[in-house]
Amino acid sequence: MYHDPEIAEDTRARMLAWRHDIHANPETAFEEHRTANVVANALMLMKIPVHRGLAGTGVVGTLKNGDGPSIALRADLDALNMTELGNRGHKSTCEGKMHGCGHDGHTAMLLGAAEHLARHRPFKGTVHFVFQPAEENEGGGRRMVDEGLFDQFPADAVYGMHNFPGMPRGHFGIRVGTMTAYLDTFEITITGKGCHGAMPETGIDPVVISAQLVNALQTIVSRRIGATDSAVVSVTQIHGGDTWNVVPETVVLRGTARALDAAIQDRVEAAMGQICAGMAQVHGAQVALKYMRGYPGVVNTAGETAAAVAAAASLVGDAQVHTDIPPAMGSEDFAFMLQKRPGAYIGIGAGEGPNDPPIHNPYYDFNDAILPLGAAYWVALVKRQLAVA
Ligand SMILES: [Zn+2]
Ligand SMILES: [Zn+2]
Repeated sequence: MYHDPEIAEDTRARMLAWRHDIHANPETAFEEHRTANVVANALMLMKIPVHRGLAGTGVVGTLKNGDGPSIALRADLDALNMTELGNRGHKSTCEGKMHGCGHDGHTAMLLGAAEHLARHRPFKGTVHFVFQPAEENEGGGRRMVDEGLFDQFPADAVYGMHNFPGMPRGHFGIRVGTMTAYLDTFEITITGKGCHGAMPETGIDPVVISAQLVNALQTIVSRRIGATDSAVVSVTQIHGGDTWNVVPETVVLRGTARALDAAIQDRVEAAMGQICAGMAQVHGAQVALKYMRGYPGVVNTAGETAAAVAAAASLVGDAQVHTDIPPAMGSEDFAFMLQKRPGAYIGIGAGEGPNDPPIHNPYYDFNDAILPLGAAYWVALVKRQLAVA
């Protein structure tokens, strides 16, 4: 277990208060105005200079202590569009919005680390505390990067952290290379020729084509991607038709494609295009594919992963830092920051037992017991990477 008593009692109490306050007042993508105020006010009380406005509601605090390397530590601010079903004192007060991914806890842990580092200054160099909006779906991390995050706040490396309820508290998990999947979405519009349901020979039936297309798309993963490579193609929506006796003019399919490697993702896209074109030709219909690139994979660099491992191990011991966890098919927009700077994304164990709700579950709640360990991880990382000579 975690023995480092470094994070002071008053900071621990404040982290708990921030966490519950943010949890009770969830805000979703690019609307995190109140949350950004909480963060900015807290940083200003620590006398940390604050910059606001990157990606709208983004907040960056910069703590400089002499000359030395620079590091960016990132937390996410946003909640999800879902209704909380658990019943706790700090339950969401906003119907239909909920901190179901623990970003309230991520924000509180980074604020706790900022307070400790501002008070004790156990480093030489510059620490940027990056609080980004809209991690879920909207790519607030990409917007911060596009709007000049690393031009305005030059950092040698960038680090991120996410709570893992499926991993026991007191453990960390990480890997070099791809941690999370490349996430794309697609929309396929099949345009045939509408006709009477009794006389299909007078039209071109997009419903039959859509059925064949769903099956054909499943051959991408099973027949075109090697068994040791990873990809997923899921058709998640089929829309077409309004009544019993009309063959519709169009059917629309939508879905998601994921892979752990950019080259595999390119092959999935190419195969999908080929299958759609072939299907159009076979049936004399139009099959239009719109393939949309989403989040790239989170790809950890070797040196920074080693630093993250060492920082975590200094707190919980080598045995509780798992350095080769399997990559996840979920995705994370911290990837956009890692495309610009070397860095590492680590999972902090938050599990208490097998019945813990997973993230994005309506009964989920961030585990407050890991707040001090999370803050201590950031502190350990800064002390290590920005060591006082
Ligand atoms: Zn999430
Ligand atoms: Zn999350």
